[in-house]
Amino acid sequence: MYQKIIDRLEKDRYAEKEELIALLNCDSEEVRSYLFEKARKVRERVYGKDVYIRGLIEFTNICKNDCYYCGIRKSNAHVNRYRLSKEDILSCCENGYALGFRTFVLQGGEDGYFTDAVLEDIIREIKRNYPDCAITLSVGERSRESYQRLYDAGADRYLLRHETANCGHYHMLHPDSMSYENRMQCLKDLKEIGYQVGAGFMVGSPYQKTEYLVEDLLFLKELNPHMVGIGPFIPHQQTRFASEKQGSLNLTLMLLGILRLMLPNVLLPATTALGTIAPNGRELGILAGANVVMPNLSPVSVRKEYQLYDNKICAGDEAAECIQCLTRRVGSVGYQIVTDRGDYKAE
Ligand code: SAH
Repeated sequence: MYQKIIDRLEKDRYAEKEELIALLNCDSEEVRSYLFEKARKVRERVYGKDVYIRGLIEFTNICKNDCYYCGIRKSNAHVNRYRLSKEDILSCCENGYALGFRTFVLQGGEDGYFTDAVLEDIIREIKRNYPDCAITLSVGERSRESYQRLYDAGADRYLLRHETANCGHYHMLHPDSMSYENRMQCLKDLKEIGYQVGAGFMVGSPYQKTEYLVEDLLFLKELNPHMVGIGPFIPHQQTRFASEKQGSLNLTLMLLGILRLMLPNVLLPATTALGTIAPNGRELGILAGANVVMPNLSPVSVRKEYQLYDNKICAGDEAAECIQCLTRRVGSVGYQIVTDRGDYKAE
């Protein structure tokens, strides 16, 4: 029965709610390997054996939001707050470019210092220095006008995980000052403006049910984003979810495989969170259908201050060490890291 569902996913890029629930609830090594084999086949048809790298620059940990799961949320008083200067950011790019990165991801909290004018200036300068590189922004919810200005300044892509497609669940993870509708509106705006858009969610976040994961899958199918970022929820000790369970490795891998079949061309990272819950998590992610890794380019001096969750890996490593380590890891499972912008391949 499970094989039939997987065959259908491969053929129709779709399955019914009940089928997806059954598949997600099935904890069988045999079913997983059947799924992953198909996912790899589809991934290799579109992207070959290439794995794209994105240089992650965590440029501010100052945030006005208070997402209950997040280690750098506003009300965590134990975080040493920092923001990188334009010069710091450019030097991360310089370092990254020399290491073969052709995409820079600027990620941060929702920090009011980074107005449109400030970000536009940074984006323009990066583009001037590295015209062959893509810029991805991941700075949360902004107005449509703001997204438009940043796009016009040269930003190519935007990552904004929807976090959960179930409205009730969204409100169990966020304070009342945040709204599900606004987050969804942001994703719609970003797409309409012309960004390559990434959505996504945490696997095993508190109160999550299998039904909600199915809603996530069907929502993503409908949104049809260029990228999907998923990783296990990992508790952070200074949040109200400190003693919640972390998300499961196998379930995350299964979701990666299913997403690859539902959205064959999607750019799918094997995330740092996946590498945090299992030593070979990212390799397993690649083998389940992922085709992107996002090593950290942030200065080592600030890395430990960008702890979204406990025990985040690579907090003390230089970017050069990270890329070496990943090159080896990706190679060990038969794939290769490439120096390429790694744009979405449309059909
Ligand atoms: N402020 C930006 C960037 C958020 S950090 C924004 O709002 O989009 C990037 C992602 O890390 C989040 O979207 C969330 O899905 C993930 N994340 C945050 N806390 C986490 C945790 N405790 N465990 C796993 N992932 C987490």
